[in-house]
Amino acid sequence: MLADCVSQAMQAYSQGPEGDRLVFCCPRCFKSYKFKTSLYRHIKFECGKDPRFQCPRCPYMTKQKAPMKRHIITIHAGLTMFE
Ligand SMILES: [Zn+2]
Ligand SMILES: [Zn+2]
Repeated sequence: MLADCVSQAMQAYSQGPEGDRLVFCCPRCFKSYKFKTSLYRHIKFECGKDPRFQCPRCPYMTKQKAPMKRHIITIHAGLTMFE
């Protein structure tokens, strides 16, 4: 399955710069991107990397929005950055 995904992406890429029709999917999380550069950026900087939500008031980080919201509410008494 993983190998299929990758080879499909490579195949699509090797077909030429037709842009829109190409879909590159991440072998790890199957997120898909139109451009190889986007997928590359995802793999390099996003996929499986550190948490995305960083508390603006302390070093606390989390991958999901909900725990961050809870953290802010409980620790920092509810900043209004999250609607
Ligand atoms: Zn991924
Ligand atoms: Zn905090």
